Amino acid sequence: MPCGTAGSVKAIPQDVLEELGAQIVLANTYHLYLRPGHELIRGLGGLHKFMSWERALLTDSGGFQVFSLSELRKVTEEGVNFRSHLDGTSHLFTPERSIEIQIALGADIIMAFDECTEHPAERSRARESMEMTLRWAKRSQDYFQSHKHEVPWASESQTQMLFGIVQGGMYADLRRESAERTVEMDFAGYAIGGLSVGEPRAQTEEMIVRSLEVLPKDKPRYVMGVGYPDEIAQYAAMGVDMMDCVLPTRAARHGLLFTSQGRMNIKNLRFAQDQNALDPKCGCKVCARYSRAYLRHLFVSGEPLAAALNTVHNLWFYLDTMRSVRHAIELGDHTGTLSGKLSLT
Ligand SMILES: [Zn+2]
Repeated sequence: MPCGTAGSVKAIPQDVLEELGAQIVLANTYHLYLRPGHELIRGLGGLHKFMSWERALLTDSGGFQVFSLSELRKVTEEGVNFRSHLDGTSHLFTPERSIEIQIALGADIIMAFDECTEHPAERSRARESMEMTLRWAKRSQDYFQSHKHEVPWASESQTQMLFGIVQGGMYADLRRESAERTVEMDFAGYAIGGLSVGEPRAQTEEMIVRSLEVLPKDKPRYVMGVGYPDEIAQYAAMGVDMMDCVLPTRAARHGLLFTSQGRMNIKNLRFAQDQNALDPKCGCKVCARYSRAYLRHLFVSGEPLAAALNTVHNLWFYLDTMRSVRHAIELGDHTGTLSGKLSLT
């Protein structure tokens, strides 16, 4: 899922996302709540209509951004008190408030409010945090059940899907317990949160494996906030259905491009007179038309087009990686294409 933080995948318009084959976009509750405000978006018919995007949308709970962006004031059983990173005003996110905001935004998939356990965390702290996430999951679900008809596009037959989130820090048994108790609550899908927070990759992998052993295969399983192209191929091969990451879009804006030959820093002087396509094996329209020399020139000159073109290419590369993975899975080939993709970094 490309990240459309504030209702926009930075630097590219929605019709280009459609051309790239994006089926779903993630938007951040924290950002949209602060600006322009969820009530404004509700009044305009919800986020799909507001941003003119008919395909699927997912909103996060806002918790992760509160922990990472705002000036955090206090976490209590009730919720999280924080100051906006925009203007310093005080706000309170609770499970009920997060779901209320996400219902107003009206994404197809919404997330239970969780606490992203910091890393590293002592075992006792990871357990405490996991227990609170479980209590918050129940409160999120209760609020959702009694208010889901308030979604801007409400109808008899359709409602949003609420996903629960597995936490447990870097402790395999806590991950397992968190997954088991979250599944008992019966959500429409399950996410694995609190990963890719600075831990070694082998540990990320272990936490995913332990969680997947418990999470039902017939419901969507989503690892939040990963990863590099080889990681997403690897996790998909392990049984993960959904992932999101700012990496392809953020890296693109910094001139870092993912290609079939590995990572490429387009601002490098060695591309100044390079007339080759960015990635000769890529099927995107940027690689079909522009040279490395031109892309480098745009980037070092600070032209806005650089961000747009780089983002188109990186998103294509990510979405194409997933297309190959899907194809390999359909063919029952878990070795050929998948291991080929795993060699990419
Ligand atoms: Zn390309």
